[in-house]
Amino acid sequence: MKNLKNLIDKLEKDNVLSKEEFVELIDLRNPEVNEYLFEKARNIRYKYYDHDIYIRGLIEFTNYCKNDCFYCGIRRSNKNAKRYRLSKSQILECCKTGYELGFRTYVLQGGDDPFYTDDKIIEIIKEIKQNFSDCAVTLSLGEKPYNSYKAYYEAGADRYLLRHETATEEHYNKLHPSELSLSNRKQCLWDLKEIGYDVGTGFMVGSPYQTTENLADDLLFIKELKPQMVGIGPFIPHHDTPFKEFEGDDGNLTLFMIGLLRLMLPSALLPSTTALGTIDPLGREKGIFSGANVVMPNLSPIEVRDKYLLYDNKICTGDEAAECRFCMENRMKKIGYNVVVSRGDFKPETIII
Ligand code: SAH
Repeated sequence: MKNLKNLIDKLEKDNVLSKEEFVELIDLRNPEVNEYLFEKARNIRYKYYDHDIYIRGLIEFTNYCKNDCFYCGIRRSNKNAKRYRLSKSQILECCKTGYELGFRTYVLQGGDDPFYTDDKIIEIIKEIKQNFSDCAVTLSLGEKPYNSYKAYYEAGADRYLLRHETATEEHYNKLHPSELSLSNRKQCLWDLKEIGYDVGTGFMVGSPYQTTENLADDLLFIKELKPQMVGIGPFIPHHDTPFKEFEGDDGNLTLFMIGLLRLMLPSALLPSTTALGTIDPLGREKGIFSGANVVMPNLSPIEVRDKYLLYDNKICTGDEAAECRFCMENRMKKIGYNVVVSRGDFKPETIII
């Protein structure tokens, strides 16, 4: 026990551990060690972000996907998925609603849908930036060539989310068909950084075949990449995928990993994800107590909400944007945190409040 607490102290001091130390800490963790970690994680986030919670308006604009990731409910082979695409004017309408609700960041997320050519995406980014110039635009559109990323950035996109999913090649190949590769995924992340985006990466916790060594490698890859954001959530099976029989994390390991990430990247933006809220009704609150500082309520139009199903039992699929927004504010208030109206930019570690 003492040894585990020493490892947490060491992580707080050095912002990194060896692979073996991460493995030991993750494997041997227990409720007392969890609390020791979470308290440190909260105190570190207060130094940079006080009790503020940043909100992002998530617009799930297409569920068509050319990829076939084994875990994902909108994979191309899922013939039962009811597919939809939002038009530019529908996306702008979501932004308008979001603006009125106090969102100053829009996250455009979708399957890898070739219908949205670079020209179409650039037009959407430009119009959002013209109409809502004090807002940040975050993209989460999957793997693209360097020049596409560059063109979106030049059109005004500020941030890009691309989870690496798992940093171990052998594991990556168990989660994805052979046409997808970890090396390309990682290259995309390096490209995004070089272009100048604020970059978010991340991984699923409890995905099929994942080992503790894999999780330690995820942390070490993230340490190397130094992203501004890290999104992690439990793997949750989807009934129409090859992984339908697997069980995911019950949330406990995800929370522990959030705590470790906060100690490793003190000023990072760490979302408490919808997947966490799906496996536990208080999952998002627990994520905040473990060191997270961002939530991403859904802004997608109500008619498409129940179609962007990456996993089973996703929450909030019947709610209006305003309901989600105020529900989140109330949930955060109840646990002593404040949702703020701002772009919620990353703060470098030199800016301590
Ligand atoms: N096409 C984009 C967006 C993917 S969806 C891209 O490739 O980046 C966003 C994230 O949802 C994925 O990166 C994955 O980590 C997560 N996800 C997909 N299926 C999931 C599942 N069954 N359980 C939990 N998370 C899942």
